[in-house]
Amino acid sequence: MHKSFGEVEVLRSIDLTVNRGDVVCLLGASGSGKSTLLRCINHLERVDSGDVLVDGEYVGYTARNDKLYELPENVVAKNRREIGMVFQSFGLFPHMSVLDNVMAGPLLVKQQGRAAAEKTAVALLERVGLGEKADGWPSQLSGGQQQRVAIARALAMEPKLMLFDEPTSALDPELVGEVLDVIKSLADVGMTMLIVTHEIGFADRVADVVALMHDGQIIETGSPSDVLHNPHHARTKQFLSQVL
Ligand code: ADP
Ligand code: MG
Repeated sequence: MHKSFGEVEVLRSIDLTVNRGDVVCLLGASGSGKSTLLRCINHLERVDSGDVLVDGEYVGYTARNDKLYELPENVVAKNRREIGMVFQSFGLFPHMSVLDNVMAGPLLVKQQGRAAAEKTAVALLERVGLGEKADGWPSQLSGGQQQRVAIARALAMEPKLMLFDEPTSALDPELVGEVLDVIKSLADVGMTMLIVTHEIGFADRVADVVALMHDGQIIETGSPSDVLHNPHHARTKQFLSQVL
């Protein structure tokens, strides 16, 4: 896939496969294109060429004769629903209780019944360790707790793929672990995840594949032991020496 903003080519010849059940950690310096790549995957941004398939289905486009055709809006919306996204800034709805935040997608987008949506939401909040906060408000929670609610909210849509964009970068250091633990628990039950992170230790422990982005390209990809401990590319070595 390729993606430019005006004259600036932000993603260049991106070719990435995330296997079902795998955790892929995407590393790279600020400005290398990581967020744009995630945004293209769930069609928050349009690619200029190339395409994105999730579970065999085009997310926003189908390509024919080298031309991109945008899928009908309802199909794009359906495909996007199957991709959960968690941002650095949590993004909870401040005027809704914790429980209502987690129920909002199933109620409004999936048109689930209230009882079923509530049952799922309660179970998900328990799963992220926040069962007793269901009736609280986002503003009463720590950053780590808010991010765990954001993860529960994304899971409520039963995504096939979870995208995380620096999920712990806005957190105080002592709150990072609780969020990484929740993400690790999703890895343990086989959730397919693409995670942009600067937490090298986490990537080393949890990732099946680590990919390193530099200047709009994926310059190195492989197992954590290869990419993190035995990097081939000089840029990878340089990046790791800066973050470790
Ligand atoms: P990263 O997440 O790795 O820090 P980004 O994907 O946010 O990188 O940005 C990659 C490049 O694209 C940067 O040079 C950034 O300034 C540029 N960029 C990102 N979004 C836009 C946009 N909406 N319009 C123009 N340039 C953008
Ligand atoms: Mg970013």
